[in-house]
Amino acid sequence: MDCIFCKIRKGEIPSEKVYEDDKMMIIKDIDPKAKKHYLCIPKNHFKLLSEMTEEDAAQLAHCFKTIPALADKLGLDGGYRLIINQGDNAGQSVFHLHIHILAGQKMEWNPA
Ligand code: AMP
Ligand code: ZN
Repeated sequence: MDCIFCKIRKGEIPSEKVYEDDKMMIIKDIDPKAKKHYLCIPKNHFKLLSEMTEEDAAQLAHCFKTIPALADKLGLDGGYRLIINQGDNAGQSVFHLHIHILAGQKMEWNPA
């Protein structure tokens, strides 16, 4: 499968990995949209929330539990924003579900 995040998971292309366990990894986004921009990536490949298996859902739940537990390590003090782009209108460009973690600054609220 030609998926950039699966290739990163397998170590076939480099990334700046800041955390990894058996269900997920967190890497630095290659094109940051905030002072701190990480991607939390469940290990299973699926594109949309609507396509999740029970195991996919368990991995995603693990992501949501782990992100706040890593707040110190990731420097999320002061608050952070999580975004999951789903499909074309949202601008999803990598079709392996991932959670954007944006932090390190005050953020506007203007999704357009
Ligand atoms: P999305 O548009 O929601 O699918 O987000 C995809 C994100 O992946 C974008 O923010 C890209 O900058 C990021 N990205 C693409 N390729 C890489 C890569 N090789 N390493 C790290 N981040 C990447
Ligand atoms: Zn994938």
